[in-house]
Order: sequence, then structure tokens, then C-alpha cells
Amino acid sequence: MRHFSYSRPETFENASHIPDHARYLAGGTNLIDLMKSDVERPEHVVDLNALPMSQIEERPDRSLRLGALVTNADTAAHPLVTERYPLLASAILAGASPQIRNRATNGGNLNQRTRCHYFYDPDMACNKRSPGTGCSAKGGRNRIMAILGTSDACIATFPSDMCVALAALNATVNLIGPEGERAVALRDYHRLPEDTPWQDNVLRKGEIVTSIDLPPISFGKNHTYLKVRDRLSFAFAIVSVAVGLQVENNTIRKASIAMGGVGTKPWCVPEAEILLEGKAPSLSLFRDVAECLLQGAVTDRDNAAKLKLAPRVIIRALLQAAAGTPQSQTYKSIS
Ligand code: SF4
Repeated sequence: MRHFSYSRPETFENASHIPDHARYLAGGTNLIDLMKSDVERPEHVVDLNALPMSQIEERPDRSLRLGALVTNADTAAHPLVTERYPLLASAILAGASPQIRNRATNGGNLNQRTRCHYFYDPDMACNKRSPGTGCSAKGGRNRIMAILGTSDACIATFPSDMCVALAALNATVNLIGPEGERAVALRDYHRLPEDTPWQDNVLRKGEIVTSIDLPPISFGKNHTYLKVRDRLSFAFAIVSVAVGLQVENNTIRKASIAMGGVGTKPWCVPEAEILLEGKAPSLSLFRDVAECLLQGAVTDRDNAAKLKLAPRVIIRALLQAAAGTPQSQTYKSIS
């Protein structure tokens, strides 16, 4: 690891004014790995852990505010999350390992970087790590890479489970920076790679994620987070689907759906949600929704299986959500 200077500001004002080549540290579960691999080479590390962002609180409009420094484990176990947002708790518990969830924070989960093998290897060409060098994943080992939202410059998958559920829940990300505060819809927070894949999200220099707001509509009854992965723990999604439905008298009144493991960001298609609304749950409807969600998918050398697997996962997730039988993240056998 290279030498760097370190600070631990106690005010947002001080935390927002950072030198060039600085990186923010929260739980450290991704940044420290990247520094050890010589992928991230910050000259200055700004530790955010003294800032007041460690609460989960209910807002007057019954929305829930998750502090950016609350750990993933504490978020998944919080009574208001387990009661009202079981979709989020389920997605968090499907990710990483207990040790990592005890350390990783909500803000860090949003800002984690791809797990593309080539991104972690400084000897390989990678436009996300070293702009303009090329993309070793194209035509290379790319079984885990994205099939939606890719570009000529990058096909890396966004790895989070939590963010897929946050997208399905229509969460909002609250930011503070040198120009003040602003709020961004989670669905708009992560960027497509296009021709600037090194910019993962819309954060500006000196901006910090302070909290995440969950709206009052929680899909507490009809929801599921279904994740297919290479092993049943500590593995990133090959395909995952978060679904929330409001069902009355066998009619879907409101639908929200997001995908992980297939996109360069949490993948949402509003037209697929509109397709579901006002209709009775049925296999043929869910097949149409799967087709709509996967429109525009592009496969490369090794990841074509995702295009065969994804419709099955989407349909099964919708069937589970409509039936009110979400997948358990505790009992992980596949029937
Ligand atoms: Fe780098 Fe993206 Fe290509 Fe992976 S897919 S090598 S992260 S440019």
C-alpha cells in the first residue's frame, strides 16, 4: 500500500473541502481492498466516521431515513426496516458475508465499485480504472459482466444487492457538498458507462451521501428479492430481481421492479411496471414483463447464459411476490 495522509473531520463543511486525489472512507470494505490492490491510490483519505450520519429515523410523512454511516447489518435488523421494508432487509442479507455487513455502511454500499476482474488488476487495460486504455473484459473472461446498459468502453456489472432493493422501493439519496444539499432519486444516482465509465455515479467533488430516504409505500406484503449466484453465500448476483406489488382483489394496483447482476447500474424499466398495473397476476403477463425488462440486452463472449436465466428469475420473482411468498434469505436451499 502507498503512503497517504489522513483526516477525520467533524463538520460537513470541513469534510466537503477536500484536496485533489482524496478519497472518502466509511466502512472501508471496498476502498481498503482497492488500495491494497493498487487500484485506488489516494494521496489523502478523509474518514467520515465522526460525522452525524448514524441514525435510522422515521420522518413525519412516515418515510424512513437511513443514515449513511449505519451499517448494512444494523439496517437489515432495524425493527422499522424488518416490519415495513422487508424487501430491503432481504436484499441486504443476500449480499456479502455477516462480517462484511457488520462493517459496510449504507453510503458505502451505494458508492462501491465494480468487481470486474480486470478492474482489480492494474496490469490489464481497463477504461474504468485508467481512462482510454481499453476494456479487457470485451472478448475476455466476461461471464459475470453486464448485458444491459453497456457501452463500447465498459461492460462491468454494478455489484450491489441493497441498491437493487432501493431502486425497487424508489428511494432517494440525500447529498451535501460545497454547493449545498440536494436529493437524487436512487434510480438516477448511478451512471451508465457510456464513454466515461470511470464516473460511477452523479457525485460531484466534495459531495457526501448523508442519508437514504425510503418512501411510505413499502410493499410490505407482496414482495421478493430473488438472487441467483454461483454459491449460496458471499457471492455476487448472476441475476437478481427485486419486486414490490400492491395487490387488491387479484389486481396489481402498483408495481415496482429492479434487477441486479445484469446491468451496469440497478436496472429499472418503467414500461415494465406500467405493464403490470391494473392487471391480474398471470404467467403470460409476467412473460411479457420479462421481455420488456430485457429489451436491448447485448451479450459478449461468456455471458449469454444471463439472457436465458434472467426471464426465469424475473417470472419466478413475480410469481413469489404476487403470491405473498417472498424468498427466505435464511433457508437457502433451491427447490
Ligand atoms: Fe474495465 Fe469496465 Fe472493461 Fe471491466 S468492463 S475491464 S471495469 S472497462
